[in-house]
Amino acid sequence: MKRRIVCFCEHSFDADIPLSIDLGKEPEVEQAIISGEFLNIRCPNCGKVLKPEFPVFIDDPQAENSIFFVPELDRGMYFRGALSYSLREANRVAIGYEELVEKFLIKRHNLDDRVVEIVKYFLLSKIMEDYSGDKEVRILFSKREEDAVLFTVLGLKEDEVGVLKVPMETVHKGESQLEEKKRQEPFSEILKAPYVSINNLFVEGSD
Ligand SMILES: [Zn+2]
Repeated sequence: MKRRIVCFCEHSFDADIPLSIDLGKEPEVEQAIISGEFLNIRCPNCGKVLKPEFPVFIDDPQAENSIFFVPELDRGMYFRGALSYSLREANRVAIGYEELVEKFLIKRHNLDDRVVEIVKYFLLSKIMEDYSGDKEVRILFSKREEDAVLFTVLGLKEDEVGVLKVPMETVHKGESQLEEKKRQEPFSEILKAPYVSINNLFVEGSD
């Protein structure tokens, strides 16, 4: 679909942005998402690479989940149920590019995103016990090692990225508790498909 893009140099142009991607037919897009190249558009006037966000349905026939990518700017609309487009049959939603990358990293490392979000909730609760700042603290899945899962923590200190390591044992424990957690607050909120995310707990300004 042709989308109008306005560059920082004020040049405006039309770019072809797909409405949907079938990873069965275009498997290379998965790597492009993870490496940050997906939806990159070069301005024909100044040559700058732009990273606009547009809604895209990403079908993944080899995986359990299809993902609908919702632009960060539409986050409020998503929570108000006021999106101007349909999420199609997606059983997962990622809001903003950071979350889209995270979903694919979780898949690549063969983990269950529901369990990862539960673990993130415990980590974030622990961090917030000793946190007195006013910055938004974000926690993202990074990778899986042999016996541990690594998370990145952003916002704790200026220009500093923290790394948290969680033993695989804890992740397995989360797995075994998944069914009971689904019925408990706040996990029932976090696991509310299609938007499976701890960010369900941080919905701003319910106006
Ligand atoms: Zn430009």
